[in-house]
Amino acid sequence: MRIDVITLFPDLFVPFQQQGVVRRAFDSGAVNLKLWQLRDFASGNYRRVDDRPFGGGPGMVMAAQPLTDALSAIRADRAEPQAMQAPVVLFSPQGETITHARVAAQAASSQGVILVCGRYEGIDQRFVDRFVDLQWSLGDFVLSGGEIAAIAWLDAVARLLPGVLGDADSHLQDSFNDTLDGLLDCPHYTRPEVWEGRAVPDALLSGNHAAIAAYRRQQSLRVSAHSRPDLVDEARRTQALTPADEAFLAEVARSSQT
Ligand code: SAH
Repeated sequence: MRIDVITLFPDLFVPFQQQGVVRRAFDSGAVNLKLWQLRDFASGNYRRVDDRPFGGGPGMVMAAQPLTDALSAIRADRAEPQAMQAPVVLFSPQGETITHARVAAQAASSQGVILVCGRYEGIDQRFVDRFVDLQWSLGDFVLSGGEIAAIAWLDAVARLLPGVLGDADSHLQDSFNDTLDGLLDCPHYTRPEVWEGRAVPDALLSGNHAAIAAYRRQQSLRVSAHSRPDLVDEARRTQALTPADEAFLAEVARSSQT
């Protein structure tokens, strides 16, 4: 999948591509990441990409023209037929929050994207209106630039691609996955069996696969009911909860009242 990024800080992406499991996605070419330095598309001696905001106020605004020229260069380089053109995504606190569902949809698709990372007060609205297809947010807070949001999104997509995680199925057991009916993951433990007087739950030491699976399901229900009741509601709505799940949730609710 080809992904182009328009950014003033392409170097931020370099160490990310070289570390950890997601490195495999870039080394293997599963993700073909092309970084475009916006400043290369600015004119004039100072290669300015920003200017003061009309109407006054603090900060600077990224001008539409360099962004447009960068996008044209990317479109020419990708040489896609009009109907198959990759969408342009702007990272913005005003966008739709990035979710597992959106990340998984991207990982399952061969179509790439063109990512635009804002800086300063943001980018000229006329570029957004004319060229941006989607806006994605990392959450309800404001970053100084879109690069960290882009890297977070790239990491989440890359780890879902075949061959990136050591164990092919390991991401299926992670929070929000269909395998867990969209619930949160269960707690994990490793050696030693007793640490600072705290023992690992018996069920996990039993060697009984059915008992372990049942225990993990219950813990997944427990943490979800506690931290993300909306996920439990959604699982219920999609009829993913069994009578045993419901009985366990009722028990959890009773014990939390006492
Ligand atoms: N004035 C804007 C914020 C600009 S922050 C506002 O209040 O809405 C500068 C750039 O950082 C943005 O253009 C965007 O690309 C990026 N950014 C900031 N917060 C973000 C977030 N939560 N998610 C994704 N990108 C973000």
